[in-house]
Amino acid sequence: MSAADDNRLTAPGSDPAGSSESAALRPGTGSRLDRYLPRYAARAHSMTSSEIRALFAVASRPEVVSLAGGMPNLADLPLDAVGELAADLIAGSGRQSLQYGSGQGEPFLRELICDVMAVSGISAHADDVVVTVGSQQALDLVTRIFCDPGDVVVAEAPSYVGALGVFRSYQVGVAHVEMDDDGLIPELLDQALTALQAAGRRVKFLYTIPTFHNPAGVSLAPDRRREVARICREHDVFVVEDDPYGLLGFDATVHRPLRADDPDNVLYLGSFSKTFAPGTRIGWVLAPHGVREKLVLAQESATLCPPILSQHLIGRYLQTQDWMSQIKVFREMYRERRDAMLDSLSELMPAIHPDIRWTVPGGGFYVWLTLPAGMDAKAMQPRALSARVAYVSGTAFFADGFGSRSMRLSYCHPTPDRIREGVRRLAGVIRAETDIRALFGASSPDVLTDRQDQRGAAAAPDVAEGERAAPDPSVVRHGVRPGVRHGGDADGPGPATR
Ligand code: PMP
Repeated sequence: MSAADDNRLTAPGSDPAGSSESAALRPGTGSRLDRYLPRYAARAHSMTSSEIRALFAVASRPEVVSLAGGMPNLADLPLDAVGELAADLIAGSGRQSLQYGSGQGEPFLRELICDVMAVSGISAHADDVVVTVGSQQALDLVTRIFCDPGDVVVAEAPSYVGALGVFRSYQVGVAHVEMDDDGLIPELLDQALTALQAAGRRVKFLYTIPTFHNPAGVSLAPDRRREVARICREHDVFVVEDDPYGLLGFDATVHRPLRADDPDNVLYLGSFSKTFAPGTRIGWVLAPHGVREKLVLAQESATLCPPILSQHLIGRYLQTQDWMSQIKVFREMYRERRDAMLDSLSELMPAIHPDIRWTVPGGGFYVWLTLPAGMDAKAMQPRALSARVAYVSGTAFFADGFGSRSMRLSYCHPTPDRIREGVRRLAGVIRAETDIRALFGASSPDVLTDRQDQRGAAAAPDVAEGERAAPDPSVVRHGVRPGVRHGGDADGPGPATR
């Protein structure tokens, strides 16, 4: 961990009193850049732009191969058919589809959403579905109705950057729990919940992405799904299951959502962003009956109703098109890209350093790559951009500044040739870095990185809070380093998929 990372252990919005930034936030001070600064609510101070957004401007330049963004690839979407549907919708029934609608979402779409969920084994009633503005808004609404400042959410290490942003904006702490190639490690979840509850922390829910994880690329093994559900029940903690990639698997394996077997203790989040188009901004929550009612109230206060035109467009699309075949087209397209990335990594990385590891996703958009001990993906990022390749540093996916040895590589958007070129450029940057280290040895901050990682794996302080990041020494931190690894090596068994 670099010195810069060390500072990040005090979570955004939580600078120790007396730091220059907190002085700038003191009431009445303001700044020349934003004279409203002293007037923002405390929760607004915890809102910071994600590392991905900051990268976006550079990464989207045409000369850069971006392995950074997670934009779905719409090249294979049948635009003519969708265009006809949209035209019909407005010319034929514009008075309904351009009107306000129900806060819970259009009843006919909620029925169709139940058909979509049935594909992965969920049996649900349309009454229990609440349509949202993407699953991002579902995360926001769920956090809004359940979490007070200072509450804790347990999440995988690493976790989805957009969810971490929501938790931070509600001043909710995040306790990370380590994963390996089979996803979240149940024993560590149990330990984390026990420690947090013994320390008197209010743990509200487990936030998990069990299938084709963003950013780790792994999936929770079937026996672990049962274990995780049992452990959460035992600790009286419910599960928020985020499943936007579940239908995008590259083989015949269907990953049964936790919700399919535990309807009373799981809030399930779905989305059309990856299986249709993100611009429609339609997602949903499937919630136990009582929660559904609160979610609708929260939705009405946030938006009155989710966008009705988008709901009608998706509804018509599901009714008139062979959407399952279209999902298979998407799967093939993403599989080809995943293969291009994995082949290039296997070809180039082992020769650079035997300890470079990466995950082997069975679906979804992402590979998680971990550099040898002592290396820092965040510090390497400017050099990568100079070499015209972009990735997201692992630190973006931790609430507490860890993850600097890792990076997320996404293969969803570039063509296979560009992916190969991107990995080639990345390999050049990593090689140069390892050469420098071999020549001059590790600099002192890097030595610190190793030591801190090891200490953290054993018993470093835990919860990174949106509001206050004073480390809580009573809690054992779980999940300093995701245990995901590739191939058989000294650190343990490799994934079965390789
Ligand atoms: N959850 C996860 C895990 C995601 O990867 C994303 C998008 N990248 C979302 C939620 C939000 O997606 P949307 O709002 O487009 O449904």
